[in-house]
Amino acid sequence: MAKEFDPGNLVIVGAGFSFSAGLPLAGGFTKELLSLGRVVADGPSARQIAFIKSFADQVFGEGASRTPDEWPDLEDIFTLVDLSANTGHHLGPHYSAADLRVVRRAIIVRMIRMLSQAYRRRQRSPDAGWRALETFFGGFRADISAVLSMNWDTVFERGMARAQTLRRVDYGCHARAVMFDGNSLIDRPLTGDSLHILKPHGSVNWLYCDACRETFWVPPSDTDQVAQTLFRRQDWAVLPKSKSKLPAIRTAACPHCYTQSLGTRFATFSYRKALDFPMHSASWRTAEQYLKGAADWVFIGYSMPAADFEFKHLLKRVQLTEGDRPNITVITGGRDADVTIDRYKKFFGDVKGKRFFFRNGLDANALRHLKDIKVLRA
Ligand SMILES: [Zn+2]
Repeated sequence: MAKEFDPGNLVIVGAGFSFSAGLPLAGGFTKELLSLGRVVADGPSARQIAFIKSFADQVFGEGASRTPDEWPDLEDIFTLVDLSANTGHHLGPHYSAADLRVVRRAIIVRMIRMLSQAYRRRQRSPDAGWRALETFFGGFRADISAVLSMNWDTVFERGMARAQTLRRVDYGCHARAVMFDGNSLIDRPLTGDSLHILKPHGSVNWLYCDACRETFWVPPSDTDQVAQTLFRRQDWAVLPKSKSKLPAIRTAACPHCYTQSLGTRFATFSYRKALDFPMHSASWRTAEQYLKGAADWVFIGYSMPAADFEFKHLLKRVQLTEGDRPNITVITGGRDADVTIDRYKKFFGDVKGKRFFFRNGLDANALRHLKDIKVLRA
């Protein structure tokens, strides 16, 4: 067994971090998911969108058409779907547990595609936020720093692969590196240094086997293939009929037990049930170990929302039991920057010389501080 990684810094990134890479914040998620502007009319994505919309109209609009602005939070949708489907129940007369699982997969597949499309758009026309991220990735010291990402996207992994050709990733949950080879998944040999990144809510480039319960990860830019694997032939059959031909479907078998049972497990927002899955609980255990060893906790674009109460409990627990209390850096931005900073001060205390707050994102001051504490190379 390899020696366990003992990082000096732990960088915790939230939605605000990925926002710099062009991805929507929670409020914009629904709108982007349902946006027909960029999908082919009568194409597969349009069919999925129509299906999700009709679910929202019936369950939340009493049958009346709902615009994305009138939708409840995605968090509410996922929670209702999960609470019913996971216990084998209907949600109202029209959606059985099996239907609800298709709804969930359709939303997740749309999400995976939307995230990769938004990322590609920003990559093609980078702005100041993107360039600041590139500077960050160029200097990030993966040799002594670990990352905890509360996001499902692969912004961090892709940034590090591009800036430092760091392609080996240790997700801290025993996930195995594989890649698509046509319709199969094969092992992906990787050499060189590792990026240590924990994703306790899951990741869009992971596949989970429902039979042997192993977790696999594919290259962070290959998420379209993951989407093709997750939405299966029988799922398409549930959707409204269409004249267009079926989209690409992958039926790769599990590389460990060879069962055709690959799916995904996202800990969708606050709902804690998904955390019972082995890779999520392994991620949390590794997170605790990293938090205990790190001298600096660096929060970037993470507003510490109330919904993350279990994570906040972990942070508080570790903070209070470490003889050497961690230094805390908060890099935030946007309209609510002051509110966010206030929330951190109330939660962790405002200790002179041990707290560092930056309210304008990864600006020159923030980057200089990150060099001082050796998150970035000098
Ligand atoms: Zn398996």
